Amino acid sequence: MRFSKLFVPTSKEDPKDAVLPSHKYLIRGGFIAQVGSGLYNFLPLGKKVLDKVRNIVKEELDKAGCEEVSLSFVTPASLWKESGRYEKYGKELLRFKDRKDNEFVLGPTHEEMMVDLVRGRVKSYKQLPLHLYQINWKFRDEVRPRFGLLRGREFLMEDGYSFHSSYEDMEREYDNMEKTYSKIFSKMGLEFRAVEADSGAIGGSKSKEFMVLTKNGEDEIVICKNCDYAANIEAAKREKVPPPLKGDEAPVMSRDFFHTPNIKTIEELTEFFKLPSYYFVKAVAKKAVYEDREEIVIFFIRGSDTLQETKALNACKALDLKDVSEEELEKNGFVPYFIGPLNEKFNFFIDEELRDEDNLICGGNKKDYHYVGFDFKTLKNPKYADLVEVKEGDRCPKCRGELLKTRGIEVGHIFQLGDRYSKPLNATFLDENGKAKPFIMGTYGIGVSRLVAVIVEQHHDDRGCIWTKSTAPYLLDIIVSDVKNKEQFEFAENLYNKLKNENKEVIIDDRKERFGFKMKDFELIGFPYALIVGKSLKEGKVQLVYRETLKKEDILIDELEDKLREILF
Ligand code: ATP
Ligand code: MG
Repeated sequence: MRFSKLFVPTSKEDPKDAVLPSHKYLIRGGFIAQVGSGLYNFLPLGKKVLDKVRNIVKEELDKAGCEEVSLSFVTPASLWKESGRYEKYGKELLRFKDRKDNEFVLGPTHEEMMVDLVRGRVKSYKQLPLHLYQINWKFRDEVRPRFGLLRGREFLMEDGYSFHSSYEDMEREYDNMEKTYSKIFSKMGLEFRAVEADSGAIGGSKSKEFMVLTKNGEDEIVICKNCDYAANIEAAKREKVPPPLKGDEAPVMSRDFFHTPNIKTIEELTEFFKLPSYYFVKAVAKKAVYEDREEIVIFFIRGSDTLQETKALNACKALDLKDVSEEELEKNGFVPYFIGPLNEKFNFFIDEELRDEDNLICGGNKKDYHYVGFDFKTLKNPKYADLVEVKEGDRCPKCRGELLKTRGIEVGHIFQLGDRYSKPLNATFLDENGKAKPFIMGTYGIGVSRLVAVIVEQHHDDRGCIWTKSTAPYLLDIIVSDVKNKEQFEFAENLYNKLKNENKEVIIDDRKERFGFKMKDFELIGFPYALIVGKSLKEGKVQLVYRETLKKEDILIDELEDKLREILF
């Protein structure tokens, strides 16, 4: 490709609403252009990267035994009514009617359509398993489309659906997809983790999210320094925290109320009793919202911990948790700052790590009093649950390694579905005994257009994008320093033609622009390498620039061929 012919309107101005590097650089680098909220056009360079990402996904899925299809983007609403999702999905689902008043939706995901495609066509267990996927546009009328391609309304997604005759076989495919997705993201040159996702309160099915590690990610995740353990903060576990004081130093407490005038917070308590916060029971009060009522629920955790709201929500199986004011607590018979698990007259949950623990200081349920020496074994009907947020430095539940907190962006999701869709849609097959059974399904998705932004989010500097080799629009940018210099121009042209004939991914910057201007574009667009053909050509040298490090290397013309063979695969 010639720069002089390429449609690449680069710009120096950051787009107004852009806060993330990927959003800024993709627009400034002329990869994409916004047409409306959450809607983007892909320009030639953007389309090239999108296709490369798409091809990596396709290649690995085909190798893993999946078959590509393409489903209608416009979906009859009747299918969504059959599954029961038409009412439930909310405003993200764009609904509309055609001229004959038929109702439709723009597919945000395609479980219904895929089940409909398979039902009646796959009849016997002998035709299973089957894994069909597509790479197609989706529409979700997101409340807050933002960050450019990261959260669009229209976006390209790979969505796969597998059909099985048993749960075991579905689990086998789930593992197969975990491996395949891992290969896909590795091939793109991304650092990622497959994390255990929160699967909701009501015994949700197993699912894993693939998170690319970036400091601007929307999701907070916990990873182990030592092994492959990784989990969303909402689902992260840790090894039980050991007591900070051991042996003779461990506190032994009387079992009594203790006057603690105006001593309210954990900090004040640790100061007052001269003990680490580990030995105190913290009460966190919340108002749990249920379908038909609201109720104050107390969560008891160690003074050294913080409540993880999603875990708390899952424990009490509420729809939502709200904060409670001091007045509301008092009105309901609680003594703010002095709430303890001493009697079981109110609804409370206790963190799993406090199970059967003794020698703790908790609220005395009366003003200005704490209870010293509380023993959780004295409770008759304790409700224990995992309630606390994992902290940096906590120990890994798998290998005891050190846990770190980081942020990530979800690029893929694998999910064990079971018969959630096949049952209501009445999609069945005949098993070995000739009995009709609903398909057991798995579902899998990759955010293909999101990945274009994610790659930049993980690979950029303050000058622009740094594409990984497998995703770069072109690998090498041949920059002619002075196009009016005949010798330079001809050398560059010859090299360009030669590499192009070898099908190498090469672009030549043959524009009549200043050298500095061309270098700025190279840095902003982020091709992995530039080859500068400039003054030193007279001495038989050209200069190779590595975009990632911006390091420059003089190459002798005689050695150029070997060097290019090494870097251009
Ligand atoms: P998120 O939690 O980010 O909203 P999701 O759980 O709704 O994602 P899935 O339904 O699992 O997403 O969709 C599969 C993949 O599609 C996601 O892993 C993500 O990479 C991508 N994706 C989802 N929503 C968007 C969007 N609005 N814009 C771009 N990509 C998206
Ligand atoms: Mg998801």
